[in-house]
Amino acid sequence: MKKILYAKPSITQLEIDYVSDAVTHGWGEQCYDYLIRFKTLIRQHLGVAHAFPTSSCTGALHMGMAALGVGPGDEVIVPDATWIASVAPVTYLGAKPVFVDVDAKTWCIDSEKIAAAITPNTKAVIIVHLYGASVDMDAVRAVTEAHQIPIIEDAAEGIGTLYKGVRAGALGTLGVFSFHGTKTLTTGEGGVLVTNDDSLAEQLVILDNHGRDPKVPRMFWCEQVGFKYRMSNLQAALGCAQIERIDELIQSKREIFHLYQIHSKDVPDIRWNFEAAETVNGYWMPTLILGESHPISRDSLLQALNEKGVSARPFFYPVSSFPTFETCSANTVSFRLGERGLNLPSYFDMTEDDVRYACDVLRESLQP
Ligand SMILES: *Cc1c(COP(=O)(O)O)cnc(C)c1O
Repeated sequence: MKKILYAKPSITQLEIDYVSDAVTHGWGEQCYDYLIRFKTLIRQHLGVAHAFPTSSCTGALHMGMAALGVGPGDEVIVPDATWIASVAPVTYLGAKPVFVDVDAKTWCIDSEKIAAAITPNTKAVIIVHLYGASVDMDAVRAVTEAHQIPIIEDAAEGIGTLYKGVRAGALGTLGVFSFHGTKTLTTGEGGVLVTNDDSLAEQLVILDNHGRDPKVPRMFWCEQVGFKYRMSNLQAALGCAQIERIDELIQSKREIFHLYQIHSKDVPDIRWNFEAAETVNGYWMPTLILGESHPISRDSLLQALNEKGVSARPFFYPVSSFPTFETCSANTVSFRLGERGLNLPSYFDMTEDDVRYACDVLRESLQP
């Protein structure tokens, strides 16, 4: 039977060559060569001044929020519809996540609801470019700037995403990305923290290296308690190859999404990822919301798709619905999406036949 995975990295001879070179020669004096190169390539691609490659996006968020001084007693506003990795680092720092509902079209944080969630304890707002859709930045900034609250962009799913010509990750005070094996650009596991803020970057240089200040030339002397989330040179070698191919990796995501549009045109009452005016959606995952007219439950549809070899996944559950948090049932859009949404496969080597097959299975499964 046909089996279409939901995600799979694209590994060419270039990736193999770079990683082989790194594992063979990337030691001693060359031990950071690929890491330094990856940093430069990321900065150039995103158009940012500073980049700190990390072992994960979760780590990048943890370190970034530490640099902003997030701590016990602080509140951090987060969208309820996201992966838990956007929220977990808030709790690592002893701060409280405040869950805000998302917009029904973009599935990103609802700027109008941010204002109501701000208190004197609000230390930061985390926004998430969900499944590659751009957050409405001007609307969010209008709220945060009035209160001088920094914006942290979780752009883990936002490679290829733009807002008014600026790349996701370069829009906020801090930006973070994930290079997990399922993401558009991968290093196996990995991430990066980026910023255009020079003074934050100065603090991050110290935090990124166990609190050692490069201005204090004393070996093993630590000025602060920092972190050790740095990406390895081996992973960076893989990352260098991937970022040299970034245009085709992004292009393929957009093409696959458009093929889904073509081949599912006649499927009634489903709603796909949204691309707002003046934005580019990176379409990390083709995602659809089942309309009310379909009697089938989302989970039954997932089962039907998977039984036919189409690896579909559920839309993220609202993070506030997890047992460790207080459920915010007022976030009705996030709850609805978590109940009626699903992701369909998309990866570089996916063919038009694969997309057509996935759409055929979808159409059949929805037939009453
Ligand atoms: C994948 C993902 C992360 C986490 O990335 P890791 O590299 O696994 O830490 C964070 N936020 C979002 C929105 C993600 O999709």
